[in-house]
Amino acid sequence: MSALSDLLRLDIASARKGLADKQFTARELTEAYLAAADDARALNGFITETPEQALVDADAADARLQAGNAVAMTGMPIAQKDLFCTKGIRTTAASKILGDFKPEYESTVSGKLKADGAVLLGKANLDEFAMGSANITSAFGPVTNPWTPEGAATPLTPGGSSGGSAALVAAGAAIAATGTDTGGSIRQPAALCGVVGMKPTYGRCSRWGVVAFASSLDQSGPITRSVRDAAIMLGSMAGHDPKDSTSATAAPVDFEAALAGGVKGMRVGVPREYRTDGMPAEIDALWQEGIEMAKAAGAEIVDVSLPMTKMALPAYYIVALAEASSNLARYDGVRYCAREDGGDLTEMYSNTRGTGFGEEVRRRILIGTYVLSAGYYDAYYKQAQKVRTLIANDFNTAFNNVDVLLTPTTPSAAFAAGDVDDPVAMYMNDIFTVPASMAGLPGISVPAGLSADGLPLGLQIIGKPFDEASVLQMGQAIEDAAGFDKTPRLLAGAKP
Ligand code: GLN
Repeated sequence: MSALSDLLRLDIASARKGLADKQFTARELTEAYLAAADDARALNGFITETPEQALVDADAADARLQAGNAVAMTGMPIAQKDLFCTKGIRTTAASKILGDFKPEYESTVSGKLKADGAVLLGKANLDEFAMGSANITSAFGPVTNPWTPEGAATPLTPGGSSGGSAALVAAGAAIAATGTDTGGSIRQPAALCGVVGMKPTYGRCSRWGVVAFASSLDQSGPITRSVRDAAIMLGSMAGHDPKDSTSATAAPVDFEAALAGGVKGMRVGVPREYRTDGMPAEIDALWQEGIEMAKAAGAEIVDVSLPMTKMALPAYYIVALAEASSNLARYDGVRYCAREDGGDLTEMYSNTRGTGFGEEVRRRILIGTYVLSAGYYDAYYKQAQKVRTLIANDFNTAFNNVDVLLTPTTPSAAFAAGDVDDPVAMYMNDIFTVPASMAGLPGISVPAGLSADGLPLGLQIIGKPFDEASVLQMGQAIEDAAGFDKTPRLLAGAKP
């Protein structure tokens, strides 16, 4: 058996080879991850750990390997964002309101990964109901980013909402993890933790069994250590599901095989409106480096315009919150969720929802209810829907002339929880990720460089609907050129 620390640094593609070549067994790989659970605990990356399940899954994977029936994810120890319902395993959405909810069913996506032989290490921490950009709204406490500025010991946030997933993958506490992305929750934490995060086209992965935030935007995707891994894992997660009426019927794609296509002659759009006022110089510099990397790989750079860019964030925070207020109405203490008693029905509702939901979720339900209310529907919700169409039109126009778009993923590197205390400032984190979400487009974040403080920075590639292949190809070119060292500098006092 190889040294534990070596096993914990492998990506899916190399672990697959190691398993096939019998260098180690799935049980050994899983045991290495279970032995690293203390480090994961220090980050608060898991809400629920499932070590017994992991060993059962690992033994099943070994049996499959023995029989020569291994498939894409066989023996890969992963974390599932705790927004995916897992049969018989507590699912919290990082909220108190779900109490001790143990689903009677498995979400389609987690079920597909299981069917492909993935090993479940546990359920990853997140922002409550996936609402946030820093993983500080979880009822189970904040997650710590395994990266820290050189010389400092202030814990940084991993981004959010899939902050537990990204932190675990970066720290070597899970080989990969699932995330969900409504306005950036896969791409932003991936960028801040120095790993790869991919949001596929809306409809590519089933939403069935995923706790809903904003149904017209929510989409699952992989958080991994390499672009190849994102392609492998997405292949397992994607596919039509008759149980989700918005699940696409698009033909299955071998995303990993598509990587071989390369980027020679690919037309890469650089949207000028993303060069926002006050963009930090290091973000701009990283973007320029990305453009040079794409050019050197044989792509052609094209200046494009997306005039509605600045409207995306305000429109998102109307549409997403309107949908959230509607989706979260079901947690009423009657049919569903942990009830708090009260003198009458209204008081029971109020006690249940007032105690069960955290502050950010309550804020969003209030705003969402407001923008949907009779007097304001036309002024806010309807306008936001129109703006959403215009955003999608902008992208369509740009894609007449280019194959993919290249932008920074985030406006800054990882920050400390106390640095952003105003909700609107927090919402600004999504400035570069939200437009693609509003248009339902696929996007990937690839770690591409370091900030002046030595923290990871990511570049985002956005593609045409259902053209994840081009997104992955350009992601691979950036990954190859950047040669980013994904080993995080751990917090002072933490074990290397
Ligand atoms: N940060 C964004 C929000 O708070 C996006 C969240 C997400 O993608 N789930 O809504």
